[in-house]
Amino acid sequence: MSDEPPSERDAEPRFHVDGAVVPASEATVSVRDRGFRYGDAAFETLRTYAGDVFEWAAHADRLRATCDLLSIDHGLSDSELRRRIDETLVANDLDDAYVRLSISRGVQPGKLTPQPDVTPTVVVEVDALPRGGLEGESVWDGPATLQTVKTQRVPDRAIPARAKTHNYLNGILARLELRIDGPDGPETTADEALLLDADGAVTEGATSNVFFVDDRALHTPSLDGPVLPGITRSVVLDLAREERIPVNEGRYTPDDLRSADEVFLTNTTWELRPVSKVDGIEVGGGPVTPLLSKLFDARVEGEYY
Ligand code: PLP
Repeated sequence: MSDEPPSERDAEPRFHVDGAVVPASEATVSVRDRGFRYGDAAFETLRTYAGDVFEWAAHADRLRATCDLLSIDHGLSDSELRRRIDETLVANDLDDAYVRLSISRGVQPGKLTPQPDVTPTVVVEVDALPRGGLEGESVWDGPATLQTVKTQRVPDRAIPARAKTHNYLNGILARLELRIDGPDGPETTADEALLLDADGAVTEGATSNVFFVDDRALHTPSLDGPVLPGITRSVVLDLAREERIPVNEGRYTPDDLRSADEVFLTNTTWELRPVSKVDGIEVGGGPVTPLLSKLFDARVEGEYY
């Protein structure tokens, strides 16, 4: 990696579009691309530590599952996708980064029904993401507040939650519910929206999985409901089991969270993020969230540094 300070490097990021690395300003897709028109696209958000993608195999599996569900046949091997990610990281001189890999069905004018032989659009975007906070800057700004919203999680029978597609309107509408007008412009009443299913059971956040701890046992909504199988969720469950922390995947109500000893959220960029309030009610601290955070950091440290 370059020793030059960032200010002396070319500032414009470079993205990967359909097999070539291009400056971000030239990274464009057609207005007829189905990812733009219909959200007809699969994606993964990944992060790298020391230049290496965290849990690549799990992300590649989830992306394949989404593409299979949507019948998007991009014809690229996992190693070719990974090569494009690595090439983009090198072009941007990034070690610790946020990576977004998107595969849209491609350009097909006219018909809603997907046609065969459409060439998929494959894009890799990267951005700097400081690990653990560089010079006081953090990937998240302190513990999160969580608020139950009225927007219902789309049922699995409508759009399966296990598919990570460009259609994020469910989460966007949920987050918009948190927006209010403040004296200096829009403000939010909480950091993350908590979505419930049709029966009022907890599913997940708009972009995160949710966990709580009661009597030192860890609980998280099971994947039988409309919940994205988060890669961080799975790592945290493994760490907890290795540590012999009792783990339950079940059906829970917002009251279970409001009265829990500890609550935290997970996603690829936040890793583990403690929750300080659920629906305005303070959540007390406890030992399990810091312990799991420490184990997560140790795993990253051990594998990548
Ligand atoms: N649930 C939803 C709806 C998400 O969008 C995300 C991540 O973006 C997650 C959960 C967390 O998944 P992961 O840990 O793989 O980032």
